[in-house]
Amino acid sequence: MRKVIFTFLFFCFSLSGFVEAKDACCCNSKYGNKDFKKAFLGEYSLEKQNFVADLWKLQRFENELEIKEAVRLKKLVSVPSSTQYYFVDSRLDKKTHFVSPWTLIFIDQLSKDFYERAQSDKKKNKKKIKVASLVRHRKYQKALAKRNPNAVWDENNPDRQSSHLTGATFDVSTKDLTRDEICWLKEYLLELQNLNLIHVRDEFYNNCLHVMVFPVPTFFGDFEKYVNERK
Ligand SMILES: [Zn+2]
Repeated sequence: MRKVIFTFLFFCFSLSGFVEAKDACCCNSKYGNKDFKKAFLGEYSLEKQNFVADLWKLQRFENELEIKEAVRLKKLVSVPSSTQYYFVDSRLDKKTHFVSPWTLIFIDQLSKDFYERAQSDKKKNKKKIKVASLVRHRKYQKALAKRNPNAVWDENNPDRQSSHLTGATFDVSTKDLTRDEICWLKEYLLELQNLNLIHVRDEFYNNCLHVMVFPVPTFFGDFEKYVNERK
């Protein structure tokens, strides 16, 4: 009988270790998968991004002409198709290779850090970050939403529009990354999200992390209350 109890206790102990190990992230991160899910798949994600856009009066681009004008005024800057540390997905329309100036600085730093720090053990064959999406105007977003369930579109609700319309947002592809590399990326982004510098959504259907970069650190306070009062 003692043997049976001992075996049962050992089984329970092993199982609890297994459950914990399953939640722990693979790159020895202090964050687990639960933390990433909570941070990147949380409630009011879209509302938060639109709150930031409204607060800092970011323009939502309606069409290609408005994007061209913003480029002329340097409200949007051109994103190179390829640099030493990142490249833009070749399937992405060249007319959309623009973002806000602060977002380009962020892409430069993130991709450099990913190249040098996430792959510090590699001497060669280092991966560059793949940027999967940049600015989108309203017409483009509407057309995209018809074929892509992740491309947010709600004509009648301004709180549920995509932040890609502002040019402050880009998507990083996780498709060709290892679990450790994805984990490194998520930890990097979560630390910055905790500092209220960015907001991230895990678009796992598309193997992308959607990142809105704030022009100024933005505090949300009691956001649930704020959203409910607007309803
Ligand atoms: Zn996105």
